[in-house]
Amino acid sequence: RKGNVVITGASSGLGLATAKSLAENGNWNVIMACRDFLKAEKAAKSVALPKESYKIMHLDLASLDSVRQFVDNFRRSGAPLDVLVCNAAVYFPTASEPTYTADGFEMSVGVNHLGHFLLARELLDLMQQSDYPSRRLIIVGSITGNTNTLAGNIPPKANLGDLRGLAGGLNGTSGSPMIDGDKFDGAKAYKDSKVCNMLMMQEFHRRYHEQTGITFASLYPGCIATTGLFREHIALFRALFPPFQKYITKGFVSEEEAGKRLAQVVSDTSLTKSGVYWSWNKNSASFENQLSQEASDAEKARKVWELSAKLVGLQ
Ligand code: NDP
Repeated sequence: RKGNVVITGASSGLGLATAKSLAENGNWNVIMACRDFLKAEKAAKSVALPKESYKIMHLDLASLDSVRQFVDNFRRSGAPLDVLVCNAAVYFPTASEPTYTADGFEMSVGVNHLGHFLLARELLDLMQQSDYPSRRLIIVGSITGNTNTLAGNIPPKANLGDLRGLAGGLNGTSGSPMIDGDKFDGAKAYKDSKVCNMLMMQEFHRRYHEQTGITFASLYPGCIATTGLFREHIALFRALFPPFQKYITKGFVSEEEAGKRLAQVVSDTSLTKSGVYWSWNKNSASFENQLSQEASDAEKARKVWELSAKLVGLQ
């Protein structure tokens, strides 16, 4: 049978390109988990996804109720779940004030990390029940959370500190909206959320790989300088960033190429190793990359897992 893959944030950028790559390969039913149904439908049409290859389901990661509703709807559909791709993200590099999710969490960490954390935890048993030969949970990471790289060293750097802000609920009223308890910084909040994504992939691997056989993986698909992720940035940045990445850092990758990379992590039979953070070299060959010290700190991963579980109501 065809595999069933859920991709969050498949209405633009990397998620859409991945949906296209998988739909075209013919072996996948793509479930686009999106917050804006009409936008998702238009996006699917704009890249000519074959009608029978995809389905759109509503999911707003900025609301824990919506996440639970999505899980309910998916269960009720009776379809098996073979691969879950946690891809959606928001980024507010120029915001001077934080915004909050329906549950009162700072938006970047709330959507990118906490919403996905609840989604993945709630869907794990479904994936476990699937008879698909290779079941996978993929959480999209980023170089920007990795302070062992050049890009990860551009200030403000990711740093989760002692997690006091996360412990305090990230709500900005009784504490800080930032994980480390410091004052709000939108660019840093995004990077921190990506560190959480990479930590959680490894913690899932430690807790569940042996028992379930599910492959847990993360990746850095390359710098896709043209996606909607940079929509909040100033116009000058948006104009200069793609050529800068193309000609200066040479880290630029097209949405199509990045989509093929993520599609490989979904379906390639040679990429079944669990607990791995994939990257690609100049010739577009995949390799297991090293994570920064913080992004591979097992003790921190355990603490982020426990505090996050409390915040999303799992404990
Ligand atoms: P885009 O902004 O193009 O796509 C982000 C997607 O997330 C959109 O579909 C958006 O939906 C969705 N989304 C945002 N908020 C929510 C929400 N509350 N609920 C559900 N969906 C939501 O960005 P990219 O394609 O660039 O980003 C995809 C992933 O790639 C992210 O995890 C990002 O961190 C990662 N990444 C990107 C890099 C880059 O250079 N662009 C580099 C490294 C990693 P909508 O269409 O409705 O806005």
